[in-house]
Parts: sequence; C-alpha cells; structure tokens
Amino acid sequence: MKIYHIAAEMAPFAKQGGLADVVAGLTKSCIRQGVDVEVILPHYRFLTIPFDRHKTHTFSFHRGGKSYKITVNRALIDDVPVNCIECSTTPYFDRDRPYGTPGEQMKSFLFFCIAAMAYIEHQHASAIVHLHDWPVALIAALAKTEKHPTIHASIFTIHNLQFQGECLEKDLAAFGIKATKELQLDNPKDPTKLNLMASAISHADHITTVSRTYAEEIQTSEYGWWLQDLLRGHRSKLTGIVNGIDTDYWNPGSDPHIHSQFAARSPHLEVIKAKHDNKRALQKELGLPHVHSPLICSITRLTTQKSPDLILHAMEKCCEIGMQFALVGSEAPKELAARFQSLAKKPNISVELSFNPRLSHLLYGGADAIFIPSRFEPCGLTQLIAMRYGTIPIVRSTGGLKDTVEDIEYGEHKNGFVFEHADTQAVDWVLERVYQTYTNAPGIWEKTLFTDLSLDFSWDNSSLQYINIYKTLEN
Ligand code: ADP
Repeated sequence: MKIYHIAAEMAPFAKQGGLADVVAGLTKSCIRQGVDVEVILPHYRFLTIPFDRHKTHTFSFHRGGKSYKITVNRALIDDVPVNCIECSTTPYFDRDRPYGTPGEQMKSFLFFCIAAMAYIEHQHASAIVHLHDWPVALIAALAKTEKHPTIHASIFTIHNLQFQGECLEKDLAAFGIKATKELQLDNPKDPTKLNLMASAISHADHITTVSRTYAEEIQTSEYGWWLQDLLRGHRSKLTGIVNGIDTDYWNPGSDPHIHSQFAARSPHLEVIKAKHDNKRALQKELGLPHVHSPLICSITRLTTQKSPDLILHAMEKCCEIGMQFALVGSEAPKELAARFQSLAKKPNISVELSFNPRLSHLLYGGADAIFIPSRFEPCGLTQLIAMRYGTIPIVRSTGGLKDTVEDIEYGEHKNGFVFEHADTQAVDWVLERVYQTYTNAPGIWEKTLFTDLSLDFSWDNSSLQYINIYKTLEN
C-alpha cells in the first residue's frame, strides 16, 4: 500500500527546521527498504525543484459547494517522488519561506489539507497518510469522519507539541468544513479557539513523536502544553521513535563545504588532523584567533525553546574561562539580536544571525563541541549531526537530547556532556567540565570524539520502526 507523507517542509529545498530533515531522511530510507512512499508538499513560490513537466497534473475538485482547480507538479528527489500542490486560481503559497504570517499560513494550510486529500482520492488506490505536525493535522479528522474513499489509515507525527494550529470556526467554514463535535477540535488552552493538533491526536490511527523521552514528557503538565490529558487518554497508540539523520547529506567524508573531508573510519591521526584543519579554516573565516582552547558552537533557531538566554550566558562564560564560541542563529527577536551583536565584539566570540546552511556545515566540521541548552527538545538533530562530524555535544537532559547523549562520567555511552537544569549555574558547571576535560584530559576528549564518530544515527533503524507501524495499519 502506498504511504503519502504530507508536510509543510522537506529538506533541503523547503526547510525551516528539523521537520524538513525528517521528511527527507525518513522517506529516502523507506524507499531504500522497498516501501512505496511519496511526499505531498505545498508548491511554495521559492521552490527550485527540477519538476518533470510531463508529469504535471491539473484537475478540479469540489468541497462545501465550491470548486477548486489545482495543479500538482511532480519531481523525483533522491528517488523519492515529490508532489507539490498549487491552486490554479488563488496563490496560497506565494511566499518566500514555508510559514507565513499566522492568518496567511492558516488559510493556506487548510487549503493544502483539502487539496492533498482530493489528490489522493484522484489516484483511486487505497493509501496510508503519514501526517507531520499541525499544518496537516486536519486530514486525520476529515479522513476518519468523512470516511474518505482511499485513505485507509493515518499516522500523525508530533515534531513539536508547542505549535498546535489554533484556528477559528470561520477559518474552517471558508473551506466548507463545519466544526462539528465529531471533529474533536476542542482547545483546552483557549476554549474560544479550535485546535487542529488535538483533533489529529483523537482521530489518527497511530501517533508518533520523535523520541521516547519526549513521548513520556508530553503526557505531563510540564511539557504537555495543555494537551497532556488528551495524550494520556490516547497513550496506547502513541510511540516515541528517535529521529535519524540523512547520513549521505551529512557526511564529513564528502561534505563540499568543509575544508578537510574525513571518514569516520579513517586512521585516528588523519581524523584529528582533519578536525584541526577544519577548526583552523573556521577560525580564519570567522576572524577568531587561532588559540589552543575549545571552540564551542550553537546552530539553532533563537526561540525560547532553545534557551537563547543560556546561550548568551555561555558566551560570556566562555570568554571568562578562555574558550571560543561561534553562533549561527535564526529567528532572533530584535532585542535579543542586539544583545548577541554586542557580545560579538569580544575577540573570542563570533555571531551570525541568519539561517545559514553553509556556515552550519563549517561549524559542524570545525568546532570542538556544540552547546544545546534547550528548555524542551522533541528530538534535536544538531547533536546527531555534530556527532557525525566528531563535534562533542553538550546538552540539557530533555527529550531526544536525553535519549541520544550520555555523559562522559555518569552515562553508559559516554558520548558527551549532560546537565540537568536549564539555569546559569548548570551551564557554568558543564562548561567548566568541558574546559577541564579538553585541557587536562585530552585522552578522554579524543576518546569521546571517536565514540561519537562510531555511533550510527542513520535512518535505517528508526525507519524500520515506522515501517512496522505502516504494516500494522495496513491490516
Ligand atoms: P528545530 O527543528 O527545533 O529547529 P532540530 O535540532 O530538530 O531543531 O533541527 C534543526 C535543523 O536546522 C538542523 O538541520 C540544523 O542544522 C538546522 N539549523 C538550525 N538553525 C540553523 C541556522 N541558523 N542556520 C542553518 N541551519 C540551521
């Protein structure tokens, strides 16, 4: 049976965060394992995909007394068929990033949901839909309540429970959808609004989230964003599956951006030399002095989830104890951006406030360690990518960070540095340990680096767990 992944993002051409990497990596791995998978995405204005013009498909569908004409453009990306939907009459996706202003994105994603369902119906063959996060959550509820003729079952993956798709009755009414009790759109946080994610949690045949710890955490009031009771009620169909990374794309052995490529299995001396050369090239590019002390990086959106206050604190602490810090951070509000810019004047600090994939590759390749102090982290990909490049993770113990990084002293795998609390004392404590280990115990530092390089974070293990769920849903 065909599996349609329906999402707002797919790496690398429509990426705002880790969700994009997951859609690309998981689908590619499923195809390799012989699963019949396709992706359905909005056709954003900024897409530069080589579409196969012979496979463009245009048709009309009706819903709620209205008729919509859509065009579906098709491309094969890394062997994965990708279908990009646009409306022939209204430019719903005419924007330069996946998410627009709140009003604009709600309208466009609701349209995307009904258009994707119409497209699947148009294919006439029974299929399973794999839905990613709130923009496509409504599909689970509509497929079930309207007894969709070709959607056999749905799986809903929560990448980040914080964003739930709050909307109003009139938003749905604009597409001929009545917010009936049956759709279960109740919003525990604000009863005056509807909640798309809540409806998917109720209606999807299976729910997954992106790590085992996050699957537990979201059932508690601390991490549940008002949906903890609903999730607890549906825990029998909730599974935590840790994300993988696309190890072809994130490959220090072939990464065109980094100065010296190296394979994880190269002789140790070669790896150490390549890491050293990459660090030197990075320092040169960023204007940092070439000193023998750890260079820490962060590659992140600067939203509250990612603890930008603790990143600022860590930069100051690094200056104090003689370490270097390089940040590439996107989505910083103005005031926060100014605080980062002012720290950037210090000689051991580099700050780039943008979404900059090239620089992210240089940091993964050349930094000694990556600092990830998240308040919550469903899975987190930056620690996985960093380990693939021999860059040691320093993480707060939450969600997927907890599942993938174990402390060099207290953990079993000993592949990084872990701290418990999201506060400045904990950050000081962990950074002092990082400095001491690098300076006074280089053998342990190197051992940790090689442990990280030896770990397998490819999609192959995790995709098998998804494939098992697809098989169960097929029957
Ligand atoms: P989230 O999805 O919450 O943003 P993840 O750790 O799951 O966090 O995934 C982040 C992805 O986005 C990684 O591939 C990371 O390299 C990339 N990324 C994050 N911030 C930036 C940035 N400022 N510039 C370039 N890439 C970034």
